[in-house]
Amino acid sequence: MPALTRWFEQLTRRRWTPQQLEQHMGAVKSAALAYAADPALRERSASGGAVTALLLHLLESGAVDGALVNEAYVESGVVKNRFVIAQDRESLLRAQGSKYMAVRFSAGAVPLLRGFQGRLAVVALPCDAALLRGLCAKDAALAQTVACLITLFCGHNSQPELTQQVLRRVLKESGTELTGFQYRSGRWRGEMSLQLADGSETKLPFGRFSTYQNLFFFSERKCLNCHDHFGYAGDLSAGDLWLSEMEQEAIKRTALLARTPTGSALLRDAAASGRLVSESISTEQVFQGQVRGARFHYNTSARHRAGLLLGIKIPDDVHARVRWSEWLAAFIALFNYRLSTAKYGRKLIFAVPKVIWKVYLYLFKALESL
Ligand SMILES: Cc1cc2nc3c(=O)[nH]c(=O)nc-3n(C[C@H](O)[C@H](O)[C@H](O)COP(=O)(O)OP(=O)(O)OC[C@H]3O[C@@H](n4cnc5c(N)ncnc54)[C@H](O)[C@@H]3O)c2cc1C
Ligand code: SF4
Repeated sequence: MPALTRWFEQLTRRRWTPQQLEQHMGAVKSAALAYAADPALRERSASGGAVTALLLHLLESGAVDGALVNEAYVESGVVKNRFVIAQDRESLLRAQGSKYMAVRFSAGAVPLLRGFQGRLAVVALPCDAALLRGLCAKDAALAQTVACLITLFCGHNSQPELTQQVLRRVLKESGTELTGFQYRSGRWRGEMSLQLADGSETKLPFGRFSTYQNLFFFSERKCLNCHDHFGYAGDLSAGDLWLSEMEQEAIKRTALLARTPTGSALLRDAAASGRLVSESISTEQVFQGQVRGARFHYNTSARHRAGLLLGIKIPDDVHARVRWSEWLAAFIALFNYRLSTAKYGRKLIFAVPKVIWKVYLYLFKALESL
């Protein structure tokens, strides 16, 4: 399958004009491929641990007094997440990794930011970062608190039920209770890790979760309306680089986009301090490494049109061209989202053998690539 993926990637690779890149990615000053120099920061990171290395640099150099991050925890066997202000290395490490589960930024993060005395770095999804910038524009004290905003690239996020359903099935097989959970760490696509009540740890392919997620089953409703894949509002944005040539690399890396003077200075200083190992790449390479998901994500016009047929109202805020393959991919995503909102649909999704969904996912990805 990797050979097939590589062949398809080559076949669908094309040149992008600076205008197309800016339209999709927002304003970018420079791009880099980076990883945390300290291997301990890469053990449980989503990608190369670069975001945590940047936060640690800001904290240890005294540029900020803390970092707003999001940590996962398990309560009565159920995975949840919360925003916390990390003020030391251990708290930053505890919050590493991506949380593919709805977060409550307004209710959970904003009060923490408003109540903090000092300067903070903030990690946020693109929609939450845009909200925060809007609040800062009206509130000088809040703007003073937020010293640096790092956005994560974001395909979409999922309702907590998806995580719970996937884990319920796994835990039924193991017959024990969950005490800790990490969505994705390790090389390339990564593995989920489950800490169990008997003290053991189980690793599972991330595909056990991401196959459903990538097909938009249990997507958050707001994500259907969103076109910001790259986190336009950040000083610096971070994500993966899904290029097949990266698959065999011994150290996974994080793609970084510096967008403001604050972001550029952070990238430069963290590399100079030795905490971040970084090399420059082109903005186009970053786009190419995200191309399928990013083009799909941007095209709210396709989802607007497909939504008309399914009774799902999606504003068309980008007025993009819609080809037949884009319309069909949008229709599949919306149909799958809709299926997972119905009781019978939720049962059906988990009754169908995973191999069928895998084949369906390849078809969906092929449509996204055309
Ligand atoms: C819902 C979601 C969707 C994503 N979709 C894509 C995608 O389509 N393409 C892509 O390239 N990358 C995507 N990412 C980003 C990617 O998974 C990594 O987070 C990113 O590459 C940084 O990796 P790292 O190893 O440098 O970060 P780490 O060192 O692991 O640090 C990650 C930081 O992000 C914080 N964080 C994690 N989840 C959240 C959250 N939900 N809200 C706020 N803060 C959070 C953590 O607390 C931690 O501080 C997504 C992330 C999330 C959470
Ligand atoms: S897709 Fe958009 S709306 Fe959904 S979580 Fe990501 S940034 Fe927010």
